[in-house]
Amino acid sequence: MDDTFYMRQALTEARRAAEKGEVPVGAIVVCKDRIIARAYNLTETLTDVTAHAEMQAITAAASALGGKYLNECTLYVTVEPCVMCAGAIGWSQLKRLVFGAEDAKRGYLRYAPQALHPKTEVTSGVLASECTALMKDFFAARR
Ligand SMILES: [Zn+2]
Repeated sequence: MDDTFYMRQALTEARRAAEKGEVPVGAIVVCKDRIIARAYNLTETLTDVTAHAEMQAITAAASALGGKYLNECTLYVTVEPCVMCAGAIGWSQLKRLVFGAEDAKRGYLRYAPQALHPKTEVTSGVLASECTALMKDFFAARR
């Protein structure tokens, strides 16, 4: 399985978020070629600004593994993580982060490029146009 395959899974999660009126960001966690967590943004549902897809995915993955560190896991997320999520990803000691669309306004790379664990590998731009289109369609429909 390659990054595109797993990013499609994250996009499926993002579409679920959109169906519920949530900002469409989806995330999955893969450990040894197995998906151990699936999540999407739940900030409206939970009335909680910290309920980003990545936060849900990190919590679910740690629970599935029975350990707090994700140093053998890859997190796929449709949009570049924010500073909060990058901090959480840092605490999790994630092995690898793969994201789709860049987020020039709220993404971590602008404000806190050192927030991740120094060993975490980062790949960006996977299915970026699909990930961006989902966000644009969502916000266009709400106007
Ligand atoms: Zn976030």
